[in-house]
Amino acid sequence: MITKNDRAVWLKGGNALCSVTPQPPPGKTWRLVLLGAPGVGKGTQAQLLSEHLGACHLSTGDVFRAAKCLADGERSPALDHALGFMRRGELVPDEIVLDMVGERVCCLRCCGGFLLDGFPRTVAQAEALERLLQREKVALTAALDFELPIDEIVARLGGRRTCSGCKAVFHVTGLPPRVEGVCDHCGGKLIQREDDRPEAIRVRMEAYKKSTRPLMEFYQKRGLLVTIAAGKAPDETFQRTMKILNDVVAHSTNSR
Ligand code: AMP
Repeated sequence: MITKNDRAVWLKGGNALCSVTPQPPPGKTWRLVLLGAPGVGKGTQAQLLSEHLGACHLSTGDVFRAAKCLADGERSPALDHALGFMRRGELVPDEIVLDMVGERVCCLRCCGGFLLDGFPRTVAQAEALERLLQREKVALTAALDFELPIDEIVARLGGRRTCSGCKAVFHVTGLPPRVEGVCDHCGGKLIQREDDRPEAIRVRMEAYKKSTRPLMEFYQKRGLLVTIAAGKAPDETFQRTMKILNDVVAHSTNSR
């Protein structure tokens, strides 16, 4: 397991510094995009992958949720605007998301690598990310698409609980914390996200079908798409993912 940093640069933006100086992980620097409908278990896989691959878990949803905790005067009008979309379960407009990612571009060129979760979510965002990475002279290793039937996803989302402190993800039955309502990692309070309420879930599923599904084609055309069946047990999915990633490396000529 590799030491995790606190992702301060990503979560706080501005002049924030990460507590752990980034180091290239042993073997390979991984730069992955994680795709899949909300509730498919991307966040959990991202946590496991981050611990094993050393790359930071960069979730745009976490940045918006971190902004929600700021005092009213500390948020820019653009962020306030973004939070309105998020509360309703709608996608935040591309310009706002891209500005926010653009301010954190050092996380994309970081020698530790990255696991992008929840970004890109539209083809326009994927094109913008491609331009940013070209400018930074870094290449994506792969885009992992976690697949699960929609009915199962909806059932899963109702049981999801997120740590109000470190943002770790649990599930009341699938991945329960050791103590009910308390985070195993930092002792923070586990909460149900506002956008995991049933009415917001329906809107998010529609947004996913309309805007995010076309990303599969985008990455397929570039030879980067890898599809992974996301099973019931997170650990099984993780083992499957690691095996697939090792195959990706074995078949790639560029190992960093
Ligand atoms: P997530 O945690 O990735 O499910 O994101 C939670 C919410 O944040 C989404 O429902 C959107 O409202 C917003 N959001 C996060 N990332 C993006 C993105 N890349 N584009 C648009 N909206 C986003």
